[in-house]
Amino acid sequence: MKTSMKILGALVLLPTLLFTPLATAVTAMVGGTVVNVDGGAALDDAVILIDGERITAMGSRADVSIPADAQLIDVSGKWLIPGLMNMHVHPGLILPGKMANELANETDPALALRMAAAARGMLTAGVTTIRIPGDDRHADLALDRSIRKGESDGPRIFSAGESLIITGGHGSKPGVVYADGPDELVKAARQQISLGASWVKILISGGIATDGGDIAEALMTPEEINAVVDAAHRYGAKVAAHSGSSIATTVAVDAGVDSIEHGYTLDKKVLQKMKRAGTWLVPTIVVSQPATAPFFERIGSPQWYLDRRDSVGKQHWEALRTAVDVGVNIALGTDQLPQEPNDGTTATVREAEYYVEAGMTPLQALRSATVQTAKMLGAEDSIGSLEVGKYADIVAVGADPSADISALRSISFVMKGGKVYRDDEDLAN
Ligand SMILES: [Zn+2]
Repeated sequence: MKTSMKILGALVLLPTLLFTPLATAVTAMVGGTVVNVDGGAALDDAVILIDGERITAMGSRADVSIPADAQLIDVSGKWLIPGLMNMHVHPGLILPGKMANELANETDPALALRMAAAARGMLTAGVTTIRIPGDDRHADLALDRSIRKGESDGPRIFSAGESLIITGGHGSKPGVVYADGPDELVKAARQQISLGASWVKILISGGIATDGGDIAEALMTPEEINAVVDAAHRYGAKVAAHSGSSIATTVAVDAGVDSIEHGYTLDKKVLQKMKRAGTWLVPTIVVSQPATAPFFERIGSPQWYLDRRDSVGKQHWEALRTAVDVGVNIALGTDQLPQEPNDGTTATVREAEYYVEAGMTPLQALRSATVQTAKMLGAEDSIGSLEVGKYADIVAVGADPSADISALRSISFVMKGGKVYRDDEDLAN
């Protein structure tokens, strides 16, 4: 009955719809418990009013009056948290092995479509904001624009465009010449920014996925790093540095790099330096830990890659434990698709669980995927917590994740910007 009324209504409205935007009623989410990611008391039996993309009122049922024509979503028994944020995602990433063979000749349109499909899946995993620290052929920037226009479904995207690779460095192909020296790197950074990148990604040490340079080596010179950071900051862009190395990270922190990615072998001294400088660490711990082994088997990773991953796993874990102990700013990132199946949940949730195993409280881990992350992006005015004026990026779970982070395994409802993308229990109908 309700559905047929809706269809009838839509038919009557159709001619005017072409010329005027549909006047949507306010949505009222009622009965849930809103988790306070700032650590205060949770808000029980809450009412959240959503008009368009944003939260317009929030409080207890006694304090917020629900408009008569509001569309009700009954979330009684659910815990509500801000949309999760994953700060290290490459939607177009191709890993060595079977995947690389299958996608060796992927065309630009095929890449864009593969990335768009990945972006849709992120929403269903409860991830409403991602940062892309480098991807291929600027399909990431096209995807960002398409999502902003409402043509494609996907998370909010903060992207670095193409990573700045140095000749012979991580991510390079043998014999190919890339940007080298401060001048060329400045030009490359400005090129990404001119195309719409809000971050610049530099690769200052070796990595797991290519054999360009040892993980612990500092490949990019201090002059090169300084030049990129100066250029990016002048345009209001931030800089993310792929670094496994303490030496390279020391230089990066001095240069004012905003975030260190992975940090595979960081020692206590450099982590304390990061803490003092307020530099962010995006651990991507899930990639080097045992829970992710089945993933690498599934994608047919070659033995050299598996060996390299194993060798770095223990050091990476120690670096994370020390970072948590020292109190470094940590923003959650996975270096896998946020929705990638992992240990019975997703890579994003498993990453957060690892943070708790490494010493964080559940609330700290939740903050690393919400309000802290928003701060790293400089977007805390619009995302990262559930407050009036912010985007209605809302996830419902079956228990309190600030008491037990594994409650994130029970995501059943996902809203981004007031629009519902996942609703397992039909709460919005
Ligand atoms: Zn990465």
